[in-house]
Amino acid sequence: MAQALIRDIIKQEGPITVERFMALALGHYYAKGTAFGRTGDFTTAPEISQVFGELIGIWCCLAWEGLGKPDPFLLVELGPGRGTLMADLLRAAKAMPGFLEAARIHLVETSPALRQAQAKALPSFKPIWRDRFEDAPQDLPLILVANEFLDALPIRQFVRTASGEVCERLVALDDDDRFVFALSPETIPGCALPAHAAQAQVGDVVETCPQAAKLTRDVAFRLGKDKGAALFIDYGPGESGVGDSLQAVKGHSYARILQDVGEADLTAHVDFAEIARQARKNGVLVHGPTPQGVWLQRMGIVERTRQLAANAPAAARDLLLSGSRRLIEPREMGTLFKVLALTSADSPAPMGFESI
Ligand code: SAH
Repeated sequence: MAQALIRDIIKQEGPITVERFMALALGHYYAKGTAFGRTGDFTTAPEISQVFGELIGIWCCLAWEGLGKPDPFLLVELGPGRGTLMADLLRAAKAMPGFLEAARIHLVETSPALRQAQAKALPSFKPIWRDRFEDAPQDLPLILVANEFLDALPIRQFVRTASGEVCERLVALDDDDRFVFALSPETIPGCALPAHAAQAQVGDVVETCPQAAKLTRDVAFRLGKDKGAALFIDYGPGESGVGDSLQAVKGHSYARILQDVGEADLTAHVDFAEIARQARKNGVLVHGPTPQGVWLQRMGIVERTRQLAANAPAAARDLLLSGSRRLIEPREMGTLFKVLALTSADSPAPMGFESI
């Protein structure tokens, strides 16, 4: 389906940017809603351990307390997947009197199948679904969480060519109608690229994510205007760099990007330094990026896991312990994944980050 549609577009309009290709392929991929878990293509942190969402729930409660317990306030999740993180977050938040009653829950999700899964995971809550963050109501303090959302936003890729110029990477069709990468015939002016593009050698790829930059500006604007806090968790380096990070994953293994189009997950590293720059430019405080393992340990993952494990049957205990290890160990998700918080200017320092 996705393959035929994208082929038709390229035949009619010529080669398309990697950004458009990624948006089209992912639109089809997430619409199916079968991405997650053992039988799907990948497993995310909330699907690995309930403790992940619970600790984020505690973080949200403390952020809410720091804001003076506003009632009502907006609780937004971007890209909630199967709704597991929000379900765990809300269960943990029961411990904070008033939080659940005050929360107006808005879920930003484009996939109809995943919206259904989220409704099923949150039976006693009445979330409102939105296609875009901008559609969430204004004038309420905002607490926002997003796990592995930014990595699904489409990226642009630029390549420094042998002649020293920069071209955009495109997706075209070869003579047998197979997808192939190509370069734009026209060159891209240096001023259109981020500063770190200057380090690029011949053949190097430089990536930008215009949608992530815009989202950050929109969230920062809201936090400045209405107060609040946002927590982004994703994978990527702490410093902006050069290199091709676009990857496809299918059935828990790497796949070829141009092969299983619409059938594999496509993600790219999140440029946390760029997210931080966009946020600062728009007047909010930036905390982190902090490695996920460090942040979870500061949030008490070890103690909470031990407490749960002590009362669990043997099989569940092993899963809890191995799940937490996977989330915090440097060789697993502890270092590559990072946590970044944004807060409105006069908010107290959020939990889990060194004071700034
Ligand atoms: N946060 C979840 C799921 C991560 S996968 C977890 O940790 O398990 C990415 C999620 O973002 C999916 O729910 C997908 O449907 C949604 N998504 C991807 N691109 C989107 C976009 N442009 N707008 C809204 N939702 C999007």
